[in-house]
Amino acid sequence: MLDAPKNLTRNVLIAMFLGALIGAILYYSSFFSDGIKDFIFEYIFKLGGEIFINLLKLMVVPLVFFSLVSGIASLSSLKSFGNIASKTIALYLLTTAIAVSISLIVGSIFQPGSGYLMAETVALKDLPEGQGIYQTIVNIVPANIIDAMAKNQMLAIVFFSILFGLALNKTNHLTGNLSESFEKLNTVFLQLVLMVMKFAPIGVFCLIGKFVITDGFNIFQDVFMYVILLISVLLFHAFVTYSLILRFFASINPLHFFYKMKDAAIFAFSTSSSAATIPVTLKTVNQDMGVKKDIASFVVPVGATINMDGTAIMQGMATVFIAQISGIDLTLIQYVQIVLLAVVTSIGTAAVPSAGTITLVIILQQFGLPLEAIGIILAVDRILDMIRTSVNVTGDATVACVVAKSENSFDEMVFNKT
Ligand code: ASP
Repeated sequence: MLDAPKNLTRNVLIAMFLGALIGAILYYSSFFSDGIKDFIFEYIFKLGGEIFINLLKLMVVPLVFFSLVSGIASLSSLKSFGNIASKTIALYLLTTAIAVSISLIVGSIFQPGSGYLMAETVALKDLPEGQGIYQTIVNIVPANIIDAMAKNQMLAIVFFSILFGLALNKTNHLTGNLSESFEKLNTVFLQLVLMVMKFAPIGVFCLIGKFVITDGFNIFQDVFMYVILLISVLLFHAFVTYSLILRFFASINPLHFFYKMKDAAIFAFSTSSSAATIPVTLKTVNQDMGVKKDIASFVVPVGATINMDGTAIMQGMATVFIAQISGIDLTLIQYVQIVLLAVVTSIGTAAVPSAGTITLVIILQQFGLPLEAIGIILAVDRILDMIRTSVNVTGDATVACVVAKSENSFDEMVFNKT
């Protein structure tokens, strides 16, 4: 038995509340001098938050590598892997297309941008670069695996790990217990993740504190309709669409799924990065939900990289919103084009904070919409990024369960355990 932290969710929620409380006191009260506020921002919230995210990221590459290699090395039939991969990708594309369609329908019915005047813009600096679909495809096959690992290029790492795992699988009779060694190393990394999670309350306290001390709770005042509609669609997709998919595609109890999902969702919320959340999503899907390792270790990292339903929802709603505030009427054909484009761009979006707002540029350019309007979107994007990242990660876990169930690699006993 691995040594897991006790009462993790409760402690993380308390830490979240305390972080928000202290952040808000410092933001709103004039009792503390700027020097004290700056110090707490820099040396407590920012420092603690960055160290915690680094710890999570530190786990990602070795965890994905060892779990995927040991998972594939132990597969008894390699043919089933092709099935798993094609089902996974088809489901990822399907859920993202559903996500953006709901967003467009809601956006065109409730018209978040009517009656809003374009405000001043925010500079686009300091945002992570997006990458085009061409580069995403080329990067799947790395020329140098060390370079790909150093740059956290997840699809390249997945590709190499699959090849390595396949070769290991085919040479099992020659390499003695080498594949067992990978299995054991994988266990060591799982334990390492649990050790990092013991610090999660401190990390989450710092991350939430940093957010509130910078922006307070002002976020909702600006572009109220856009924010409210977007959050509603994100929640709808998370709780309704995924429930239906889990129920009908896999006969899985959605309530139980959401209960088990809470830790990974909170991590995604506090880090705004699906990539940094991979260790927690893997642990949740494999150890708490009962998805077998060979499936979880493929579906989760690939999902973190290409499956971004929350991001696609934001891009759909933002496009409709910007078209409306610019007085442009979108045609039906254009709506269909947005669906396709949002599916493709969300694949190319890096799984790091704010990346979705950058790839939004691709969509806006396509329809000749004013890029300056991204400033408005960015002004309220912090909290929205947190929520949509939780949705992105929940989507990955949903697909992992559905694929596992269809492959008989889903352990009901583990899933039903409370
Ligand atoms: N932060 C998101 C993620 O990592 C990407 C985005 O939409 O900005 O999943």
